[in-house]
Amino acid sequence: MNIQHPIDTAPEHLLIPDAKGYFGAWGGPIDDPRVGALLAEIGAALDVALADPAFQAEMSRLRATYIGRPSPVYHARNLSADCGGAQIWFKREDLNHTGAHKINHCIGEVLLAKRMGKKRVLAETGAGQHGVALATAAALLGIECEIHMGVVDIAKEHPNVSRMKILGCKLVPVARGTGTLKDAVDSAFDSYMQDPENTFFAIGSVTGPAPYPRMVQGFQSVIGTEARRQFTEATGTLPTEVAACVGGGSNAIGLFSGFIDAPEVGLVGIEPSGHGLDTDKHAATLTLGKPGHMHGFRCYMLQDDDGAPLPVHSVASGLDYPGVGPQHCHLKDMGRARYESATDDEAFDAFMILSRREGIIPALESAHAVAYAIRRAPQMRPDQSILVNLSGRGDKDIDFVIRSLGL
Ligand SMILES: *Cc1c(COP(=O)(O)O)cnc(C)c1O
Repeated sequence: MNIQHPIDTAPEHLLIPDAKGYFGAWGGPIDDPRVGALLAEIGAALDVALADPAFQAEMSRLRATYIGRPSPVYHARNLSADCGGAQIWFKREDLNHTGAHKINHCIGEVLLAKRMGKKRVLAETGAGQHGVALATAAALLGIECEIHMGVVDIAKEHPNVSRMKILGCKLVPVARGTGTLKDAVDSAFDSYMQDPENTFFAIGSVTGPAPYPRMVQGFQSVIGTEARRQFTEATGTLPTEVAACVGGGSNAIGLFSGFIDAPEVGLVGIEPSGHGLDTDKHAATLTLGKPGHMHGFRCYMLQDDDGAPLPVHSVASGLDYPGVGPQHCHLKDMGRARYESATDDEAFDAFMILSRREGIIPALESAHAVAYAIRRAPQMRPDQSILVNLSGRGDKDIDFVIRSLGL
């Protein structure tokens, strides 16, 4: 069997950080020396694991037989014909077990935690997507799992809360502050600090201090590696553009990493512009953010005059984050990737169009990338193509969409 090193599958040095964890000017190590030492241990354990054929074989086995990889690459002929320009293709991460790409890195993080002899994995969750994926991996691999979630989010995200309970994780309701994601992060961090030696903090995107951005990117790069092989087999060429929605940036960097060494392929990230870029209700971090520091790393950031993260908005809770992964900040600076945005209304439209023309109900997060393809394809030729990452399925969003659109 040809088992590849997940980091090696990112074919280009542009996405490998320096020894301190900086991608260009972005990312970097945590300040706190005690936590810094523990994170350095995680980075070292990751390198040893990645070089171990037994670890790679276990990843490959679970990808194939549990997650259901490779996920298909699909030519959306109806949608392409409707748009009357470039061919639109989808990488179907929505067909993974648990319905999104997050399971890719959760399996990797939990395998690593177990190798390190940790007793529990810990995370915060906003809408519950990361919590469900982590609780799933923890159930599978037999390790204690603790998820911190704001009480306001718990009231809103009923099905995911039920899933986490059924999967057997310990759900910690967080009532402090506004009872939402940022408070859940603070609460999870307090719990981590009570027993950091026995706990693995499993971050849910390519965010946070080193080594998380490179670790999560490495586990997600399977998306781009597969997509490149599948698309080339199907068409004999590379896509003209690859596109993905950007919250923290993990599904986008996973897709990009398969194409970054092919300069003829355009890389496009789509941020949520919410009610509009001229309002204060959006989360278009790369489009409108300024350099800042939050949650232990340096990134473009939506911030107030004192450098504190601003409240952000997107109809897709998975995109609702005032920072963004350091790789994307670096790709933007280099001009290698382009970042655009889609509004809440464009995402709703794309959600309905994809459902009715292709029979695929996408996550509202993914619908932002679909909205970009619908807007962009008519400006391109029929012999050109856009490969869109469908990061997740929309089951979690159906009641909300019905209520919001008055259907
Ligand atoms: C969490 C989530 C996202 C956003 O996270 P990234 O790290 O930017 O990929 C996108 N799509 C789905 C379906 C998600 O669950």
